Amino acid sequence: MAKQYDVLFRLLLLGDSGVGKTCLLCRFTDSEFHPAHISTIGVDFKMKTIEVDGIKVRIQIWDTAGQERYQTITKQYYRRAQYAPDGVQKILIGNKADEEHKRQVAKEQGLQPFASQLAREYGMDFYETSACSNLNIKESFTRLTELVLQAHRKELEGLRTATAPPELAQLEEDEQQTPGGHDNPKNCWC
Ligand code: GDP
Ligand code: MG
Repeated sequence: MAKQYDVLFRLLLLGDSGVGKTCLLCRFTDSEFHPAHISTIGVDFKMKTIEVDGIKVRIQIWDTAGQERYQTITKQYYRRAQYAPDGVQKILIGNKADEEHKRQVAKEQGLQPFASQLAREYGMDFYETSACSNLNIKESFTRLTELVLQAHRKELEGLRTATAPPELAQLEEDEQQTPGGHDNPKNCWC
């Protein structure tokens, strides 16, 4: 039977409440957009498999359950998300690009704040996205996946040659055991 995926990554969506994290996730994994705000409670993560450079990457994307509103996101949330202060791969996203008239962050150079300049200072790629009009959603998740693949190139070489790499086996086990995780839930809570 063909392998369903070669490697599994965990990604986190971080940002203030209401910026559109859950909608970005729903758009990417389920191709859906919900204009009304519905509480995110109950959603732990969603999965999507994409192929990058011939590698089938299963991405487990963690969404907050709205805790960001109370600024109570703990280390628990970062646990096992390939999280390491130095090695972590990040991109900066400015969402709701469709609402040009409500723009909060300037696009052009010379205006402040200038998001792509900020991203450069932090060494991050920057994307303007819209979960509503489906702008740059696949592109930004794919770019982040490329960055993670690049950062883990050595381990991936091992993965190609080994028959049953322990890391992968461990990840598969984790995936099955994660409570409340939805592989492809029917409902999308945005
Ligand atoms: P979260 O708290 O960061 O998870 O934000 P949500 O995903 O729940 O989105 C908050 C609100 O912004 C909802 O009413 C969404 O419909 C809306 N929203 C999210 N993404 C977009 C977008 O790209 N464009 C527009 N116009 N509205 C969006
Ligand atoms: Mg949310």
